[in-house]
Amino acid sequence: MAKKLGNLKVLVVEDSKVAIKAITGYLEEIGVHPLIAENGNDAVAMYHSQRPDIVLLDIILPDTSGYEIAKKIRHLQGKEDWTAIIFLSVMARDEDLAHGIEVGGDDYLMKPVGSVVLQAKIRAMYRLVQMQRALVKLTGQLNEANQALQRLSMTDGLTGIANRRMFDESLGREWRRCLRLKKPISIVMLDVDNFKKYNDRYGHQAGDDCLKEIADQLSRSAPRPADLVARYGGEEFVMILGDTDEDGASWVANRICQHVAALKIPHEDSEHVYVTVSCGVCSVYPDREMSAETLLKTADNALYHAKAEGRNRVGILTYGQV
Ligand code: GH3
Ligand code: MG
Ligand code: MG
Ligand code: MG
Repeated sequence: MAKKLGNLKVLVVEDSKVAIKAITGYLEEIGVHPLIAENGNDAVAMYHSQRPDIVLLDIILPDTSGYEIAKKIRHLQGKEDWTAIIFLSVMARDEDLAHGIEVGGDDYLMKPVGSVVLQAKIRAMYRLVQMQRALVKLTGQLNEANQALQRLSMTDGLTGIANRRMFDESLGREWRRCLRLKKPISIVMLDVDNFKKYNDRYGHQAGDDCLKEIADQLSRSAPRPADLVARYGGEEFVMILGDTDEDGASWVANRICQHVAALKIPHEDSEHVYVTVSCGVCSVYPDREMSAETLLKTADNALYHAKAEGRNRVGILTYGQV
C-alpha cells in the first residue's frame, strides 16, 4: 500500500471541475485531503489563512493567471515558511515552463496529469518540505543556543550577576550615552572587608556563599534599568549608575554598606563582627577630554581611602583625584 502523507497540506488551485475531481482522487490515495480554490482570489486568501506546504497551481484561471498567484505567494511567504509551487498546465512550450520557474514555481506538470506522476512529484516535494521543516527547527535551536551562550559569556558563574566582560562593554556604552545626553555618570567600586580572614576562618565554600549573598543584595540595591552591578573580580564588585550624580551615588553606596552589614553574616575576625563592604564613589559629567578609565581608577582610589579610614564606609573622590 502507498505510504500516506497525512500531515501534508496541499492547496489545489484549479477552475476545471473535472481536473479538481481527478487530482483530489489521486491525492486522497496517498492520504492527502486537499484544500480547493477555484479562482485566484480564493487561492491567495486560502494561502494566507492556511499556509499550505504545497500549491498545485493551474495557469489559466478565471480572474488571473497562475503566474500572478505564484508571485503573490512568494511575496506573502515569511522567512521561515516555504511552500512548494507546482504549476499545472496544458501550455507545453519551453518558455512557459521557464517563465513558471522564474516567477517562483518549483516544478511544472503537463495536464492532464496522471496519478503516478502526480503522486511521485508530491512525494518528492514532501521530502523537501520535511527538510525545510527540520532546517527551521534546527535554526531555532541554534538561535536559542547562541542566545544562551551569549548570556553565559556575560554572566559570572558563582554569583549569576554580570561579569567583568559585560561590565567593560557596558561602561563604554553608558559613558557615551551620558556624554551624548549631558547626564552625569557614577561608578561605585565595592570590596568585601577582611575577606581573606573570613575564608581562613569559615572556609572557602562559606566564602563563596557569602559572595553570593552580597551579590544578591547589590542587585536589589540597583534596580534602575540604567544601573549595572557586576563582579569585577575576586571579592570586588562594581556598579555603573547612569544618569546619577555624586549625591545619588553616595546615597546608593551608603545604603549598600548598611544593607550588607544588616545581613549579619558573622565574621568574628573583623572589627565590625559581621561581614561588611567598603565603597569608593566617583561621579562626573563626561566630556570629550575625559575617559571612563579615569572615572573607574578614581572610584578605585576612593575605595582605597575608605579602607584606610576603617572600612565599612564610603569614600568619595572628584574625577582624577588620587
Ligand atoms: P580588605 O579588607 O583590605 O579588602 O582585606 P581582604 O582580606 O578582603 O583583601 P585581600 O585582597 O587581602 O583578600 C581577598 C581575599 O578574597 C583573598 C581571596 O582568597 C578571597 N577571594 C577572592 N575571590 C574569592 C572567591 O571567589 N571565593 C572565595 N571564597 N574567596 C575569594
Ligand atoms: Mg484553468
Ligand atoms: Mg580586594
Ligand atoms: Mg577585600
